[in-house]
Amino acid sequence: MDPFKLRFKNEYLGGPLVGKFINNAHTLQFNPSPDHMLRVVKFKKNGNEFRARLAQFHFHWGDDNTKGSEHTYGGQAYPLEVHLVHLNMAYDMSKDHLTHGDGALVIGIMFEPLEPDDDPCYSHAPGNKFFDSLMEKIPDLIEPLSETCEVEVDYASLFDAIPDLENNVSHYKGSLTTPDCQEAVQWINVLTPVKVSQRILDRIRTKVKDNNDKIMVNNFRPPQPINGRTVYKKNDMP
Ligand SMILES: [Zn+2]
Repeated sequence: MDPFKLRFKNEYLGGPLVGKFINNAHTLQFNPSPDHMLRVVKFKKNGNEFRARLAQFHFHWGDDNTKGSEHTYGGQAYPLEVHLVHLNMAYDMSKDHLTHGDGALVIGIMFEPLEPDDDPCYSHAPGNKFFDSLMEKIPDLIEPLSETCEVEVDYASLFDAIPDLENNVSHYKGSLTTPDCQEAVQWINVLTPVKVSQRILDRIRTKVKDNNDKIMVNNFRPPQPINGRTVYKKNDMP
């Protein structure tokens, strides 16, 4: 067994996250402002420990509720997945994170629709607040290579919706899901999907355009064979 430990520093969830959303023609991405407070996670495995700071987050989604995520749980895909991309602070000066096996740590969180029957008002799904500023700014993100002005994201609300966060994750070492797929990423997947309103999923998948003037959908890489990698189910360290 090869245990690992993931810890969020206290200030990770503090205050709103300030930055800009962009449509980069492949996805909707949020880039924190350069002078924003650093949000740092600590990761430990095999006696090696590193700290990584939040560098950006972006989404993958499908054109209906049966697909969109790049990971599956028990064979089930989800309509939307966010990747919280953190870069190892030890390499900040060299800007060559992807040449190191521990260059990046990406946390993947799945979203699933709240059934209308669960909530007649259809507006109180636990994950909704995280999307408030994105929903408001979607009209500014329709064209490829567009960006918003500086906005605040209620980042902590995303984690409010996940019980026992630090012990509710699996881990494997893998690659980026975009070319050239360097094996530089410590992947962390949160095991509990977060519920959002269907209207949020609908909005993301019907409004923004890619380079071909087409609605941007299915911007996910299909789940890959595990290739003999070991997936660790949760934090196994005391
Ligand atoms: Zn991604």
